[in-house]
Amino acid sequence: MVQHVEQVKHKGGNAAPQASLDAHGVAHNRPLTPEERREKQDKEISNVSRMIGIYCHGVHKSAKGQLCDECRELLEYASARIRACRVMDTKTFCSSCKIHCYAPAKREQIRQVMRYAGPRMMLVNPGRVLEHIIDSRKARAFEKQNNSTQASK
Ligand SMILES: [Zn+2]
Repeated sequence: MVQHVEQVKHKGGNAAPQASLDAHGVAHNRPLTPEERREKQDKEISNVSRMIGIYCHGVHKSAKGQLCDECRELLEYASARIRACRVMDTKTFCSSCKIHCYAPAKREQIRQVMRYAGPRMMLVNPGRVLEHIIDSRKARAFEKQNNSTQASK
């Protein structure tokens, strides 16, 4: 009896495969290939690493291109989270992700990094920041679309 109920539940939970976003925020109706996922992770890690670099240089006064111990640890932590991310296929950036996989203390640290480095990235590399803003908008539109399809079922 109990088993039967469970079986029915499982059948009902079989959702259609979700569309995924590649490193450029382009939606596909298939999961990412391992190469695409890797490219996307690399891009996210290089963004985070750049931001931590700006923050460490400006706030911790470390030499350009170098990180203090605290920031090196934060970068390692963030990279590990990105590599382990299970929603990499459907999201664009950690900063616009709804699943908060960072421990609260690290989350606060990375938030400070972004607050400091975000506006400065704009001065150093406006093209990259614009790309980020556009990708984030795409992600929001994509999520909205996904949510409304789910709601209409
Ligand atoms: Zn630092």
